[in-house]
Amino acid sequence: LSFGDVGLAEWAVETCKELGMKKPSPVQHPCIPRILSGQDVLGLAQTGSGKTAAFALPILHRLAQDPYESLHWSSHPPASSPTSWPTISCLGSCSNLRCAVVVGGMDMINQAQALMQLPHVVIATPGRIKFLVLDEADRVLDVGFEEELRAVFQCLPKNRQTLLFSATMTSDLQTLLELSANKYIFVPK
Ligand code: AMP
Repeated sequence: LSFGDVGLAEWAVETCKELGMKKPSPVQHPCIPRILSGQDVLGLAQTGSGKTAAFALPILHRLAQDPYESLHWSSHPPASSPTSWPTISCLGSCSNLRCAVVVGGMDMINQAQALMQLPHVVIATPGRIKFLVLDEADRVLDVGFEEELRAVFQCLPKNRQTLLFSATMTSDLQTLLELSANKYIFVPK
């Protein structure tokens, strides 16, 4: 089975070829079509199994297909009105720091251009987030990020796609699954 067979665009298949990736690895084979179709995926995979490409390829495929998919969001008012960004932007420009503002309700192309300037500070609201990937998910709670994660999950849009990759199925990972409240397709090793 080739990278084309799992549903990736021609440019992505060519890129894999150039990088010496001849065919999808055992974790890529089941994950790529599922992520392309928008499902939340929990994949058990070790470092070295090709798990980074397992989520990066389908996400890049989808973003390349429709980079301005979220443009229509700008016709909606932002859920909450971030009031601090003009101040931060202004302070930034006074100090030679480049700031980019990425919030709903504003022109997406200007925001994309600001991001391309490699800003030092990105002022953002979570509504723009479409994909949440937690790699080494079993380690995230391990290092004490439960409170932060709880806050992140609470403020991200409900319709985001969530992808978790973990080397092991631990009780920490179970806690994380409960925190995120998504219905995952389980991809075992
Ligand atoms: P990772 O598991 O994401 O840390 O990937 C480990 C290494 O495997 C990276 O250097 C990748 O470039 C390489 N790799 C990823 N997918 C494939 C593939 N399908 N065939 C050959 N090498 C790959």
